[in-house]
Amino acid sequence: MNSTLRDLQDRFRHLRMAETANGLPGLLRKAEQSSWTYHEFLEELLTYELTRREEKNIERRLKWAKFPYQKTLDEFRMEEQRSISTRQLNQLRELNWLEQQYNLILLGPPGVGKTHISIGLGLEAIQKGFKVTFFTMGELVHVLKTEEYLSKSKTQLKRIRESDLVIIDDLMYMAMDQREANLFFHLVNGLYERSSIILTSNKGPEQWGELMGDQGITTAILDRLLHRVEVIHLNENSYRIKHRSTIFAEKSVQS
Ligand code: ADP
Ligand code: MG
Repeated sequence: MNSTLRDLQDRFRHLRMAETANGLPGLLRKAEQSSWTYHEFLEELLTYELTRREEKNIERRLKWAKFPYQKTLDEFRMEEQRSISTRQLNQLRELNWLEQQYNLILLGPPGVGKTHISIGLGLEAIQKGFKVTFFTMGELVHVLKTEEYLSKSKTQLKRIRESDLVIIDDLMYMAMDQREANLFFHLVNGLYERSSIILTSNKGPEQWGELMGDQGITTAILDRLLHRVEVIHLNENSYRIKHRSTIFAEKSVQS
């Protein structure tokens, strides 16, 4: 019973309870100060370990997602737009669609909040324990094309294939050639009914055929994507333009 604090910490580390090992001095101090019962002490110690582990897992999943920026759904101002209701957004936020492997397609012109909503939903998913990855379509095509000879691309695709939610931003930003469309089809096919996909695009599915070149592949991709899907149209004026900073004074001088 004469273990030093350091011995105890080592034993916790040996049991892979590194968080408790690090927090032990503080926990013991608090236990003495607050006269915790044995039961309370044990409970505090276990809660500490589990909470810290979960925090670390969230951090890890956030890193893995590689969001270009972090904006939450709370930062999305509902009063600035009329395309999506608070009720709809809350329903999306509950993430039942993700548990049921539904896809989401967010359509609309630039600057209406497609990327913001995708990231916001991605952040919610990470908090709830899901694995998320974010790619622009341009990055994704590059990664698919270089998978065979770039180990970085191989790792990134492995991450995508292990994700519960894959966000593909700006789907039709660029036209694809036949090989690219084929590679994209194989990816979507692999994710089908296993993960959810959020796609953002400024063009509707009816125009995707032109951009993917091959009608057969487009049909096959659409078939997988649209089987279980919610399509959300964001048809606002650009939030960026409405809220842009200007080099002129607010009110111009009347001349
Ligand atoms: P899109 O992907 O549709 O082109 P973004 O999601 O990138 O547009 O939005 C453009 C910018 O405007 C981002 O900084 C985003 O946070 C902001 N934005 C758009 N709509 C809203 C909104 N309703 N409330 C708050 N910020 C918004
Ligand atoms: Mg965008």
